[in-house]
Amino acid sequence: MKIIPIFFPNAGCSHRCVFCNEWMATMKSFPKSVTNEIHRAYEFYHGDSNSELALYGGTFTALENWKDILEEAHTCVEELGMKGIRLSTRPDEIKDVNFLRANGVLHVEIGAQSMCQDVLDASKRGHTPEDVRRAVEMLKSSGIKVSVHLMTALPKDTKCRSIYSSFEIAKLSPDGVRIHPTLILKKTELEEWYLKGRYVPQSLKEALDWVSDMVAIFLNDRILVERIGMYQDEKTLANVVKGPFHPAFGELVRAALYRKFLVSTKAQKVFAPPRLRSQIVGRNRDLEIEFLPSDRILIEGKNGEVGFDEWLLRYVQSLKEMARCDL
Ligand code: SF4
Repeated sequence: MKIIPIFFPNAGCSHRCVFCNEWMATMKSFPKSVTNEIHRAYEFYHGDSNSELALYGGTFTALENWKDILEEAHTCVEELGMKGIRLSTRPDEIKDVNFLRANGVLHVEIGAQSMCQDVLDASKRGHTPEDVRRAVEMLKSSGIKVSVHLMTALPKDTKCRSIYSSFEIAKLSPDGVRIHPTLILKKTELEEWYLKGRYVPQSLKEALDWVSDMVAIFLNDRILVERIGMYQDEKTLANVVKGPFHPAFGELVRAALYRKFLVSTKAQKVFAPPRLRSQIVGRNRDLEIEFLPSDRILIEGKNGEVGFDEWLLRYVQSLKEMARCDL
């Protein structure tokens, strides 16, 4: 399935979250004609009958005329023979799910970012964890797919809080999650805080540790991790001031999780599908573990064989202990 995005930067946002400058993040401005913009994006991204139009970049369902825009977008999607529409919005702005469904919306991406009120308040999100729970339930019960976005290392966030947030989101069984560490973008409040020494960004090493544990939680619950790390093109990246950026962040996160598996099981040989070779041993070459092709992932070590799924279950149990920290 292909995603054909058009952007409404910061549109519908009643205020600006401290980390966000959606205009800078996407380098797009509000489309003059929604129909023209959809046709332009359809051509540019080579849309087809398996494509979803994505309405990204702000709080779509808080736009004054969001219903008119959605109807216009739906007409275009039908004319072009696309599969349907997905949109991103805030959890406290999910209202008329019947209207969403009736107008071709198949998938909604909810910006939760954290399930800890302190973290949400410190980032000036202006919603509660309860809003996230309510939004996910409403969408799921109306048959619309839901993905949830989480961020790490927002102001007042800790590893334990990020782990807790992941467990809270996993309990809601969304169709997918997207996780990215906080990057400081130009012309944001977070940039000012950083320049004044009030906010310290995560190191790449720390971000890989936190996010790989979060991925473990979702993998264990068979929840699709749709994206790891921020959407990046050259223009977007030119606006990153500081933070744990890496062009292959998702690959590094998965390699970090496999590293935890290999090290904690004292692996000597690892069996896995060949497509995972680079994540499992390629990026963990220093461990000098022999790689052998197999349908399932397991290791052979001093204490016998251990399957990845079996290890993951135990590992996630240990993370549950961590999530009981002082929130
Ligand atoms: S609600 Fe979303 S788009 Fe709007 S300011 Fe916050 S993060 Fe940016």
